[in-house]
Amino acid sequence: PAPPPSVLHGFRASAAEAPERTALAYFDARLSYRETDELSDGLAAHLAARGFRPGDRLAIVLQNVPQFVVALLGAWKAGGVVVPVNPMYRERELAHVLHDAEVAAVLCHEGAWHDFVRETVAGSPVRICLTANERDLQTRNDPRVLPAADGPAVEGADDVLAAARAALAQELPVPAAAGPDPGATALISYTSGTSGTPKGATNTHGNLAFNAEGQRRLAGLPGEGTVFVLAPLFHITGMVCQLASALCNRLTLAMAHRFEPGVVLDAFAEHRPVFTVGPSTAYTALMAHPLTDRERFSSFTALYSGGAPLPPAVVERFREASGQYLHNGYGLTETSAPCVVVPRGREAPVEPASGTLSIGVPVPGAVVRILDEKGAELPPGEAGEIAVSGPMVVPGYWRRPEESAAALPGGELLTGDVGLMDADGWVYVVDRKKDMINASGFKVWPREVEDVLYTHPAVREAAVVGIPDEYRGETVKAFVSLRPGEDAEPGELVAYCKERLAAYKYPRAVEIVEELPKTTSGKILRRELR
Ligand code: ATP
Repeated sequence: PAPPPSVLHGFRASAAEAPERTALAYFDARLSYRETDELSDGLAAHLAARGFRPGDRLAIVLQNVPQFVVALLGAWKAGGVVVPVNPMYRERELAHVLHDAEVAAVLCHEGAWHDFVRETVAGSPVRICLTANERDLQTRNDPRVLPAADGPAVEGADDVLAAARAALAQELPVPAAAGPDPGATALISYTSGTSGTPKGATNTHGNLAFNAEGQRRLAGLPGEGTVFVLAPLFHITGMVCQLASALCNRLTLAMAHRFEPGVVLDAFAEHRPVFTVGPSTAYTALMAHPLTDRERFSSFTALYSGGAPLPPAVVERFREASGQYLHNGYGLTETSAPCVVVPRGREAPVEPASGTLSIGVPVPGAVVRILDEKGAELPPGEAGEIAVSGPMVVPGYWRRPEESAAALPGGELLTGDVGLMDADGWVYVVDRKKDMINASGFKVWPREVEDVLYTHPAVREAAVVGIPDEYRGETVKAFVSLRPGEDAEPGELVAYCKERLAAYKYPRAVEIVEELPKTTSGKILRRELR
């Protein structure tokens, strides 16, 4: 079927067809499609009564809790735009987003209203403050949920579910029953900031709905079952691949507030999910946990790794540990998550020269071209910048016409990733353009070196960066964390790489660390290591 005009249309269709089915599951709390629809109506009415107008922005600063979804749908019903914000943000980062997006309303965890949040919000354009707490969800006795705030309630802030229920009880009018328009902005999604200051990509309702439907087809999602959210909902991977694809398809969206391997593996046993998507680092963490076995993963129809590089060695280790094939998928905030994926039932080839695992084939509707420095299209097999166009690509960045024009000439997104496409249409990401290491004029792509390190039995995770070198300009350095119970000396790892890589590529230094620095969405932060 054609995608619905918006995720809200898709959700409403699901709620009409299966009102009593569980839409949201969080530990022992459940909200049916009907309840979720009513609560989000109530929130839309509350927002409208508080002066929130179509086009206004609501920032959702939450971990993965059901209130996230109620607020998202409620804001869309009020004709608003949602700005998902990483709850780990500190003052400077939060202030940037609240001012840059000129946010009218904000929703935070009640327990997160520390002084810095209060002050940042007070000095920003925000007029409406909402909080989320766990008491409302009958999970009070569950020790796994977030602690409630221990101080007094926040002055001037309303609890989001209580406000929604009050609006329903008072029969406040619910705005904008029809919309939204597929071309209207649904989200301002700030990029992870892996490479610099976050910019707000403006994902339209049509962008999100297109990828939610595509995900269903490509992953072969069944008509019933549970999607477990492994990625954060504030990141486009959680938002589109999981939240949107579940709600548009009458599936249950199960979540835990944050990624913790033991909690997630317990949730797999409890919910028996059919589908999930997370960064490869999440799967590496799950595999290291003693609860991982084939039985835990036996309910899945498909598992996807997306948003970060997937070393081939991790796919093989994961297959051994779980009995499941890990499908790769590639996307950016600007492509509203997936634009190149491995369709369910197929296995990605490995590029013989570099040993890189393919990210898949372009999703139907996406056009992928590989461009040289001057913007001319390269033939199959040659590496250049990956450019993507299609119905999932954002029209631009929020209030940044120059950056939009530079990144999206003629509506085609220049991804900043270097890659190639083979004669059969499989696409490979070599690395990010900016992460290339220049060692005496030789190009070294960190991923190739990382992929080799991952094949060493003692290596859990690896990250490679260029460090200044007087003689070569830059030289290759690797940071490595080890698998539980394994041991390796830096010198041994250097020798291992030297045996398998050209002389200019192997790391001159290896540093063993406890944990590699990551974004909350699970991406390894090379910038910090540098
Ligand atoms: P910023 O733009 O602020 O630096 P970011 O680019 O990390 O942040 P995202 O949009 O979350 O923000 O990430 C997109 C990037 O993630 C892609 O450009 C690509 O480099 C990487 N990526 C995503 N999926 C894959 C994959 N399957 N394999 C390799 N890299 C991937």
